Amino acid sequence: MENVDYIIVGDGYAALFFAHQLHKHQKSFRIFSEGRKSASQVSAGIINPVVLKKFTTFWKAQEQIDFLRNTLSEIERYTGSNYFVNENVHRIFHDERERELWLKKSENEDLRLFLSQEFESVEGVKNPFQTGVVMQSGRLNVKSFFDNLLSYFKKQGNLIQEKFNHSSLKNESYNDFTFQNIVFCEGMGVLENPFFSFIPIQPNKGHHLTVKLSKPLSQKFTLKKKHFLFPLENGSYYYGGTYDREQHHHKIDESAKEQLIRGLSEFYPDDFEIEQIEFGFRPTVKDRRPIIGNHPSFPNYYVFNGLGARGILNGCFFSKELFEHIENGKSLDPEVDLKRFL
Ligand SMILES: Cc1cc2nc3c(=O)[nH]c(=O)nc-3n(C[C@H](O)[C@H](O)[C@H](O)COP(=O)(O)OP(=O)(O)OC[C@H]3O[C@@H](n4cnc5c(N)ncnc54)[C@H](O)[C@@H]3O)c2cc1C
Repeated sequence: MENVDYIIVGDGYAALFFAHQLHKHQKSFRIFSEGRKSASQVSAGIINPVVLKKFTTFWKAQEQIDFLRNTLSEIERYTGSNYFVNENVHRIFHDERERELWLKKSENEDLRLFLSQEFESVEGVKNPFQTGVVMQSGRLNVKSFFDNLLSYFKKQGNLIQEKFNHSSLKNESYNDFTFQNIVFCEGMGVLENPFFSFIPIQPNKGHHLTVKLSKPLSQKFTLKKKHFLFPLENGSYYYGGTYDREQHHHKIDESAKEQLIRGLSEFYPDDFEIEQIEFGFRPTVKDRRPIIGNHPSFPNYYVFNGLGARGILNGCFFSKELFEHIENGKSLDPEVDLKRFL
């Protein structure tokens, strides 16, 4: 039997940001990864403090952005790369009314630091009403983040590449391991978890395209009209993602594909070729808050889920809250505490 401080089940943003906290604090741990491409791995990687439909900010935005930047610097120290791509989001305005709304909102105390008051015209795309720049936004290099972090943890002997079988879990032991705490970071996989399948997580299916633009854009920043468009390292572009609460099957939805083609054609005037279409399921909660806490009957079994459409910011910020809660008894914010559903 090998004794570890923690077992982590899952390998998406929730799991890896929590693993970083454990690594930072020299805790021993194993990550169970079943090797499926997680929702996190198909995500766009956008880091954005503003809700771009209504031009509002969201809960703890500045605190979360600052914390993320800091965490990525810490991760850089042991993986050798910083995964923050310092390219702002440019929101293409649909019409004059939207532009005016942005300007008005940019005067609000909580949005002043995020909504630039200077508009820009972007070459190579249709933007007759110009674009607004979201300050402090950026994106994560999703592929390198997962490739490098998973391979780092593998080299350290922290990664176990197999599906975690809940029926083999007996109190504080699992197969050849004994542990102090177990943290389930399973995304939609939580529905198969007999301890936490009661949490009210709803799947929100998102598709994205990888496209080749016939006339590549000269700029590297992210464009957003209905969805996000940005260049990948290999010269292709990421375009997505859609939102769909109704479709739960594991196949590509033609309607989502059409929605994406229409969305891109609306502002990209030239031809493009679809190279790939992928989808994932965002684990969402009605009240738009993560779900964190321990099981009412098994106090050292924890769940970390409900990251919704903001897996990077929520995953990063709340991994520390969970760590402090377990290790130092810090209270969880009632808005994210699992107790709100008990
Ligand atoms: C198309 C799309 C675009 C998105 N864009 C963005 C974006 O730009 N910015 C942003 O912040 N967020 C974005 N998101 C949202 C983000 O991806 C999610 O919030 C995030 O992925 C949730 O992370 P998670 O770790 O909770 O779950 P997941 O990423 O789903 O990871 C859970 C992992 O656990 C594994 N697992 C489950 N059960 C087991 C088991 N029993 N044993 C072993 N492994 C197990 C699963 O295989 C999976 O790999 C996007 C989502 C989609 C679908």
